Amino acid sequence: MHRYLPKQYYKDIFSVSYDKLKQNGITCLLFDLDNTLATMEETMPSQKVKDLFEMLKKDFQIVIVSNSFKKRVLPFASILGVDYIAFAKKPFGFSIRKIMKKYNVTPAQIAIIGDQFMTDMALGNKKGIWTIFVDALGLKDLKVTSFNRKLENKIMKKYQQQQLFERGNYYE
Ligand SMILES: [Mg+2]
Repeated sequence: MHRYLPKQYYKDIFSVSYDKLKQNGITCLLFDLDNTLATMEETMPSQKVKDLFEMLKKDFQIVIVSNSFKKRVLPFASILGVDYIAFAKKPFGFSIRKIMKKYNVTPAQIAIIGDQFMTDMALGNKKGIWTIFVDALGLKDLKVTSFNRKLENKIMKKYQQQQLFERGNYYE
């Protein structure tokens, strides 16, 4: 079992085939924040992200699930008009349990989109939800993430040897 391996891999959140997700019964999208929706330097969502979310909100329940603190996450959630869970402690599963209960959805209806193996993909695969990996928007990470990146690089290398995953080799 490849517990960090994404089900799909896109360059960024704008390249994802959301129509296909919808056709496959996904009703709830969980977005990571840091380096997925915005770089660490950005304190507000870009117009491009706002436009995307306006479109997605018509079809999906959206929740920003971030390991960052509320102070960082709240401005994004309120400007984008979506729900959020801050300090989510991914890859631990409480955020998923909370979302399943609150929105009455099963794992088969949920997709998680994020830029990290150790948190976003690990959580999604563990919970049996659809995992979508995107390239990190920026090079700067949280301190804890820098540590995770080292592990991630090791795992990516292993996956690459097994021809399962290669950075920049997008698949769906
Ligand atoms: Mg991230």
